[in-house]
Amino acid sequence: MKAFNLSRRDFIKTTSLVAAGLPFMGALPAYAQTPGKKLGFALAGLGNLSTHQLAPALQKTQFCRLTGIVTGHPQKAAAWKTQYNIPDKNIYNYDNMEQMADNPDIDVVYVVTPNSLHAEHTIKAARAGKHVLSEKPMEVSVEKCQQMIDECKKAGKQLAIGYRLHFEPNNLECARLVREKVLGRTKIIDAAFGFPMGDPTQWRLKKDLAGGGCLMDVGIYSLQATRYLTGEEPAEVSGFTTVTDPVKFSQVEESITWQAKFPSGIIARCSASYNASGLNNFKVSTDRGWFTLDPAFSYHGIQGVRSDGQQINFTDIDQFAAEMDDFAQCILANRPTRVPGEEGLRDVKIMMAIYESARTGKAVSLA
Ligand code: NAD
Repeated sequence: MKAFNLSRRDFIKTTSLVAAGLPFMGALPAYAQTPGKKLGFALAGLGNLSTHQLAPALQKTQFCRLTGIVTGHPQKAAAWKTQYNIPDKNIYNYDNMEQMADNPDIDVVYVVTPNSLHAEHTIKAARAGKHVLSEKPMEVSVEKCQQMIDECKKAGKQLAIGYRLHFEPNNLECARLVREKVLGRTKIIDAAFGFPMGDPTQWRLKKDLAGGGCLMDVGIYSLQATRYLTGEEPAEVSGFTTVTDPVKFSQVEESITWQAKFPSGIIARCSASYNASGLNNFKVSTDRGWFTLDPAFSYHGIQGVRSDGQQINFTDIDQFAAEMDDFAQCILANRPTRVPGEEGLRDVKIMMAIYESARTGKAVSLA
């Protein structure tokens, strides 16, 4: 299965709407004519992403509304209740999520907790009869990803992963440039994402909650880019990790690089770090040109340039609003999401292979 399930027609529709300065709408199905049809979203985990990105993005969506929250902190519940006008009956904690089954205000649970809790919260939501959007990385093991897929299937509910860049016009344009060989046949992809990590006490540095270090958190963006640009799955990976600050990085890797070989012969060279600046880009080199995005993975300001001098600079959108609106439309139209659980599972499999290679010093075949 291709990493980007986007038809040429959808792509043109999406990018031309964006290029025309119109809000992202994707392919509008018939029910979109029905005014007022919005799905209720509950955010599970009210940390940074929910507070600063998802809740504001929900206010900009066409097909979603923030109707519920799941939190372990009564003070946060009180603040969100006031700010977003959330009734008491739609406020849950992690231990009573099953009671959502009786709540028609909530159609979708967006799981925004630390990585190793995604399966637990996804499964609780699915068993309560809700569709689930889980943040990346999907989980910390292949087995837990599979459980999430199985439970959502059993419940007859959709499961999507928060891969916002599948809705970002500049990344979509780059996928088109590769797939349509606009600047030639792709040979080498370089991709990198990272930043110096602050707070040394946070869960991202704890193996049991994060599952790994910078690879799981930000390296996944480079991995995703190599897959959605090429539409191919890596056949072989080799990687290595380093730690230069053994106190801060006592449980997870500080930096990682890996190479991946794709069936068509494309080679990707990727890196991620929790202790390096200036890593937020990719460059695609072809047999007769190249193009870059820099920054490539940010919430805003993504842009790039091509070897023929053209700019890659589609209108900035709210990627989270686009991602949530797309999921709501998929549910309403009963069509599959382009970022299903299977897509998240593939990334986790590949990341585990990269870790295995780093551990053993040998390339790992994924064929
Ligand atoms: P955060 O630490 O700011 O928030 C995590 C929330 O989970 C907090 O509200 C915390 O109270 C809650 N939580 C519940 N149980 C917990 C436990 N046992 N230990 C610690 N916290 C617990 O993290 P965040 O930056 O909001 O990230 C949350 C998820 O979103 C992660 O999976 C992360 O990878 C993902 N994320 C995705 C993007 C993106 O661009 N798609 C960006 C940032 C984060």
